[in-house]
Amino acid sequence: MVKEEMEAMVLNNIAIRARNLYIGYDEGEKILWALNGIDIDIPKNTAYCIVGESGSGKTTFGNAIVGLLPPYVVTKGYLEIYNNKVIDNDRLNYSGIRGDIAVRIPQNPIASLNPYLKIESIFLDVLKHRFKSISREKAFEIALEAIRSVGLSDDVLNKYPHQLSGGMSQRVAIALTIAINPEIIVADEPTSNLDAYLKGTVLNLLKSIISKGKTLIVITHDILFASALCNFIAVMFMGSILEIGRVVDILTNPLHPYTKELIDAANLSYTNFKH
Ligand code: ADP
Ligand code: MG
Repeated sequence: MVKEEMEAMVLNNIAIRARNLYIGYDEGEKILWALNGIDIDIPKNTAYCIVGESGSGKTTFGNAIVGLLPPYVVTKGYLEIYNNKVIDNDRLNYSGIRGDIAVRIPQNPIASLNPYLKIESIFLDVLKHRFKSISREKAFEIALEAIRSVGLSDDVLNKYPHQLSGGMSQRVAIALTIAINPEIIVADEPTSNLDAYLKGTVLNLLKSIISKGKTLIVITHDILFASALCNFIAVMFMGSILEIGRVVDILTNPLHPYTKELIDAANLSYTNFKH
């Protein structure tokens, strides 16, 4: 294969590419840099976990991917999503990407659902945004299929968000994402506030998303959950990526003391984890 062809193949296989990416929050007299020049290539069709302690910049990176950064951010370097430069130094352009190609599963599903709309109407709104001229019938069909795929019964569509339990709203949030059918899904701390049983359910739902050939980015401080779900792990610390590798390599041979600490804290060794 000629060199250009090989380069094109690699390029076409990358869902997310960051080069020397800085993202800061303008705090008036100074800028707080949440990302300090990160470089990463996230291939299509993988489950990629971003782990690290609170404040290390995980959510900022996730929001950069889905185009949900606040207006007062300061940016340098670049970020490409499906070969679109969404961040090019100080220019941001997410048209065609935000809400279509890259979508976030909300961290707090109950708060993210409009309390005055029935779940069916929430689906309709989201699907109208995604597929401009979709008919009501088609939207209902997609909503029904998505609701069933996360193990909820059809009557959930007829309920208001406050009538759902925490676990049900978590499933609705995932069903909404499935209905949008994006290429990249970012799940930010999908298991925080969940009990062990629901954690297992969410794990399986996210696994079913992966099996659809999507790129899944899971942000978590739970390296145990990450290792059960992901192919790759990137470890973040104070706005930088400390190390990136396949789950097996990171767990069996962590290079950085901080990564060892994360693994020790989870009391995890490769021998007691099965993929
Ligand atoms: P993590 O998700 O790993 O906890 P974040 O990306 O939320 O990390 O935060 C990284 C740093 O950026 C922290 O110091 C945090 O206080 C700051 N930060 C995050 N979001 C904002 C924001 N919207 N405005 C100002 N500072 C923020
Ligand atoms: Mg966070």
